[in-house]
Amino acid sequence: MEPDAYGWPVPQPQTRNIRGLLMAELEQIAAAAGMPLFRARQIAQWLYTHRVESFDEMTNLPLEFRQHLKTRFTLAPLGVAALNRSADGTAKLLLRLEDGREIESVIIPTPDRVTLCISSQAGCAMKCAFCATARMGLERNLSAAEIVAEVITASRYLGEGQHLTNYVFMGMGEPLANYPRLLRALTIMTAPWGMGISPRRITVSTVGLVPMIEKLMAETSVHLAVSLTATTNELRNRLAPINRRYPLEQLLETCRRLDLGRRRITFEYVMLAGVNDTAADAARLAKLLAPLRAKVNLILFNPFPGSGFEPSPRETVQRFQAMLYEANLTATIRESRGQDIAAACGQLRVEGGAPRGSSAD
Ligand code: SF4
Repeated sequence: MEPDAYGWPVPQPQTRNIRGLLMAELEQIAAAAGMPLFRARQIAQWLYTHRVESFDEMTNLPLEFRQHLKTRFTLAPLGVAALNRSADGTAKLLLRLEDGREIESVIIPTPDRVTLCISSQAGCAMKCAFCATARMGLERNLSAAEIVAEVITASRYLGEGQHLTNYVFMGMGEPLANYPRLLRALTIMTAPWGMGISPRRITVSTVGLVPMIEKLMAETSVHLAVSLTATTNELRNRLAPINRRYPLEQLLETCRRLDLGRRRITFEYVMLAGVNDTAADAARLAKLLAPLRAKVNLILFNPFPGSGFEPSPRETVQRFQAMLYEANLTATIRESRGQDIAAACGQLRVEGGAPRGSSAD
């Protein structure tokens, strides 16, 4: 078992799902079966263009090759255990993995885009104090096939005329704690032979796994979001314990040194009443981010039972935003979506097979 960010062993997915394979691997499979290499491209087309759910549907493959694939791989789709639609159009999917564990994905339509919030782990080990997913602990990493299947499954539950335009890894789990499978899924999502999604439409959000941030930005062209939420180490140690391993100075210095090209880093800041929402916090935040190509996303906290936090009043959030603007920092307020179905940021949680509500990074 691989260790997590804290050095503890993490159960890994046990799967031979063909949807998690890269083109070079599909070509190896074709070659090993005595097939020409173009068969690998045909498989990829069935998987990502036609999005079939069985090998029998791959009708331009020779029957014996389909049989060969069937005996070696699965193509199991994710089961949809529940679908909840919010009054604001947000849809939360409770998805069942092959081993019976459950995760959540959230479809968030706005007038100019439809965003899919993707989970990367079942549960999470990061223990962020403001996040419902943290209360689950980490059950296991998702495989690349499961991450890709989330996207395919969600695309089947869009409203009339809708199609997914943006993809954010802000659902359950810390994506960078599942880096090899995240990278594989991102490769499949963005490859021309795969789903062909522009990496500029994908954002990976982290609570601050510093070494993995460098790798992600060196190895992909996706956008980076960092869940910051505190401007002192003392407070961040409490709200996001990973800060004890990678303190603010190290995190921000790493972000400053990244080769971003035209990309800007989004810093997410969950507004907690009386905890991190004062004028002094806004001033510190502006000073910390001044050397970076950064923008701030202020997130209205979504309470969940036993969280121990209250959301900052809207006037406080607006005042905070105005102070950041005055310091020449772009700051948006992320409106809370899907609160009535516990699909809002920081509310995702599955307990005992029943959906309780999502994460905040
Ligand atoms: S905010 Fe993200 S990293 Fe923190 S516990 Fe929740 S899911 Fe994990």
